[in-house]
Amino acid sequence: MLERNVGLSNYCFYKTGGLARFFARPLILEDLLEILSFARQNNLKYYVFGVGSNILFSDEPFEGIVITLKNLNKWIYFDGEYFYAGAGVLLDDFIKFTMNFGFSKIIYLSGIPGTIGGALYMNAGAFGVEIKDFVVDAEVLKENLEIQILKNSEISFSYRQTIGLVNNIVIAAKFKLEFLPRKFKSFKVRNTVIYKRNVKQPIEYPSCGSVFKRGPNYYAGALIEKCGLKGYSIGNCEVSTKHANFIINKGGATSFDIYRLILYIKEVVYKKYGITLEEEVKLIGFN
Ligand SMILES: Cc1cc2nc3c(=O)[nH]c(=O)nc-3n(C[C@H](O)[C@H](O)[C@H](O)COP(=O)(O)OP(=O)(O)OC[C@H]3O[C@@H](n4cnc5c(N)ncnc54)[C@H](O)[C@@H]3O)c2cc1C
Repeated sequence: MLERNVGLSNYCFYKTGGLARFFARPLILEDLLEILSFARQNNLKYYVFGVGSNILFSDEPFEGIVITLKNLNKWIYFDGEYFYAGAGVLLDDFIKFTMNFGFSKIIYLSGIPGTIGGALYMNAGAFGVEIKDFVVDAEVLKENLEIQILKNSEISFSYRQTIGLVNNIVIAAKFKLEFLPRKFKSFKVRNTVIYKRNVKQPIEYPSCGSVFKRGPNYYAGALIEKCGLKGYSIGNCEVSTKHANFIINKGGATSFDIYRLILYIKEVVYKKYGITLEEEVKLIGFN
């Protein structure tokens, strides 16, 4: 069940990162419990993730177990009132499934890469909606390996953050969607959403989407652009000329290149505006 010395660059969107001493891809809860018990017995740290669309793994080896949940609980179900999806289901697949039942605003999240687990943990959002708007509750595995159902309010969703999920692993989630009258054309809206994303984002290169969070009264991308950083590069990574809040891997970049560029952007923006940008991307293994 555990693989050794697995290159993390194959498992994250940035295509960078070092080795995981142990790597696992559980399919069902029992697998995951076994892996976590092994970690505990052997005093190994562990890190769970989805498909790695919002993660930068450092180039150093991860001395523990890295666990992708992208294969965990790959089922979707509708009971006539609520939708249910396992952690490993791709958010976009879930959205496509719900479209068979009508038009709900969840369609505005179309095209966001990532799993249901990752979407909940990050409170993924776009075009004015966030996953929190649709979640009833989440089934989570706590650190003590007990299962708990957390209601939407207990998850404490905020902008790209979920305090209630820290140290919890999302196993599955329950959703309630409000369907609007049929005059709304699901496939048309979905196509427009995806088109707009493709036009604005440098999807032809590996990236993690927006590197920095939006602030209370600023867009990180606008500040970075006004600092003249579009196109600025370190090693083989670059501030995208298409979208200043994206750092792209132009081929052969290392995580350290990307990390240095993140620090450089923060420094330049701070010097010009006195604002400390906060990373949206999860930095794993950096001190
Ligand atoms: C081209 C591009 C466009 C993007 N556009 C958007 C956008 O419009 N809006 C937006 O919000 N995001 C966007 N993102 C970022 C990213 O796709 C989302 O944050 C996504 O929800 C992450 O899902 P994931 O499965 O890849 O999570 P990962 O990147 O694998 O993990 C992200 C975090 O979630 C945690 N996590 C993952 N699964 C679980 C689980 N089951 N239980 C507990 N914790 C878990 C991880 O530990 C990590 O901290 C974009 C990314 C890219 C590459």
